[in-house]
Amino acid sequence: MVQVIPLDVDTVPKHCLWCKKYYTPSYPSKDEAKASGDLIAIEQWISGMCSDSCWNELFDKKENA
Ligand SMILES: [Zn+2]
Repeated sequence: MVQVIPLDVDTVPKHCLWCKKYYTPSYPSKDEAKASGDLIAIEQWISGMCSDSCWNELFDKKENA
């Protein structure tokens, strides 16, 4: 017997693609983040950034590249 565990993205730990740390999004779902209008809260769901400092560092590096 194989138990199939449905993948629930809301329970998967988020892994910051910049600082490589695990983080908890500011809002429990992408829809709630979007409703808040908070850019970083939205990016926590969309691009996988944990914070505005990582977000800013990414763009600083890109601009200097
Ligand atoms: Zn980060």
